[in-house]
Amino acid sequence: MGHLSAEELQNKAKLILEDILAKEEPLKVKDRMKIPSQIMPQQDEFARRHNLDEVTLGLTLEQARLEAMRCLQCVKKTCVNDCPVFIEIPGFIKYIADGDMQGAVDEIKKVSLLPSICGRVCPQESQCQLNCTVGKALKDVDKGVAIGRLERFVADWERATGNIRIPEVKPETGKKVAVVGSGPAGLVVAADVRREGHHVTIFEAFHKLGGVMRYGIPEFRLPNDIIDQEINTLSKMGVEFKTNFVVGRTRKLMDLINKDGYDAVFVGTGAGLPMFMGIEGENLVGVFSANEYLTRANLMRAFDRENSDTPIYKSKNVAVLGGGNVAMDSARMAVRLGAEKVYIVYRRTEKEMPARIEEVAHAKEEGIDFLFLQNAKKIIGDENGRVKAIECLRYELGEPDSSGRRRPVVIPDSEFTLTVDTVIVAIGNGSNPLISQTTPELNVNKWGNLIVDEKQKTSVDKIFAGGDIVLGAATVILAMGEGRKAAAAINEMLVKSDTAVKN
Ligand code: FAD
Ligand code: SF4
Repeated sequence: MGHLSAEELQNKAKLILEDILAKEEPLKVKDRMKIPSQIMPQQDEFARRHNLDEVTLGLTLEQARLEAMRCLQCVKKTCVNDCPVFIEIPGFIKYIADGDMQGAVDEIKKVSLLPSICGRVCPQESQCQLNCTVGKALKDVDKGVAIGRLERFVADWERATGNIRIPEVKPETGKKVAVVGSGPAGLVVAADVRREGHHVTIFEAFHKLGGVMRYGIPEFRLPNDIIDQEINTLSKMGVEFKTNFVVGRTRKLMDLINKDGYDAVFVGTGAGLPMFMGIEGENLVGVFSANEYLTRANLMRAFDRENSDTPIYKSKNVAVLGGGNVAMDSARMAVRLGAEKVYIVYRRTEKEMPARIEEVAHAKEEGIDFLFLQNAKKIIGDENGRVKAIECLRYELGEPDSSGRRRPVVIPDSEFTLTVDTVIVAIGNGSNPLISQTTPELNVNKWGNLIVDEKQKTSVDKIFAGGDIVLGAATVILAMGEGRKAAAAINEMLVKSDTAVKN
């Protein structure tokens, strides 16, 4: 299938925009509704199978202004209500429509620290854009105002100016805060706490910062230089980083408070423990958790076979088990690592798949084969203990389960064999147990997630937590939202403790 090139899309947008601006009249609702929704230019679907460059190329200036003009500036801002960090969406969009990009950046940055990241990976179609009045009127959520693409546009615009504003930091208070984990939750806490003048140290187990945004989400969706730039901003604000530091091993969590004198600790260690199917053959050579596969490829740069010390399995036929974003990323990475045939094996239908629609569409364009209503029953090995096939079962949909999705029901005697040499299990992640095992004072729920109150405080004094370690595997924006709440509570606690000392 052919997509219009970036140049063709740009030329179309330019003509429409010139026409609108030439009229010099305020746009009426009916005029706005007539503006076509702007298609994001993207890399050629064949070329991109052989590189790790970003697939989507971002809206052009003219496209962004036109897309922004589609916004009706609703009085009842349903889009804002569905944003986990309550960005003033019509406000920043109006700045874009008027051509004031700095105004748009400033508006977003009042509440969101990581717009270039959220604009790329947030599931807008099930949040802000889901209830956009324009999409509702056109009876198509994809035709709603492309809020995420506009957010990305302004963040990229700011980056391109090379003049990123560093948030102001208040005078030093002498208080110290430790942040454990450098994912989105930890980064947001670090920024918000540092702004108040407290010293912040981020402790990170890996040698690189960014959490799942670095080691999980591949560069073809979220380039590393964007994460580097966010870390750089924190560094300029005076945040200190300690990498290769595993809290619970290198140093116990409680020691940070009792021995190292930290006044507060935020735990944002994420959900990095892969789950497996529990089926026969999962210990064969050629079976990977999605976490391991993606970490090898992204963090250890294993895709660069010539130069990387970390090897990655050479695969011809790959089955990815699961239907979420992690499954899509694994399958699309396998294509880029040279696999000839990649299958997504999923027990339900496309409608129930939790992956973002855009990611599914990209995966299809890249030649990935979706096997719906099917699942692995066992993995079959050869005489050397290497994967040679999976035995699958066929399913049909039954009654809805507790998640509201229709339950997959096995069709008896429906077994068949799929020839593959690699199996990637992408059925979810649990919380990393290290912190809770080495800090028995912390209360956890039955899934091992830390239990917190409404201010993100754990059962232990001065220790706060948020993001996936509390929510279970969730999203970047929800992790950021929890980080924001925790930072507010930490700042409040530190002010109170200061006042108590002075009194
Ligand atoms: P994380 O990002 O997991 O960061 C936790 C950090 O803590 C890690 O760097 C880890 O190394 C470190 N750490 C762990 N234990 C310790 C310790 N003991 N000491 C020191 N450091 C420690 N979300 C979206 O919104 N959109 C997407 O498109 C999307 N795609 C995804 C694709 C993949 C492959 C994966 C795995 C997840 C995806 N997610 C997506 C989910 C999203 O990335 C997470 O919800 C989010 O990153 C959680 O943030 P966090 O800060 O809680 O933890
Ligand atoms: Fe604009 Fe849609 Fe929000 Fe209305 S709901 S203000 S049209 S983005």
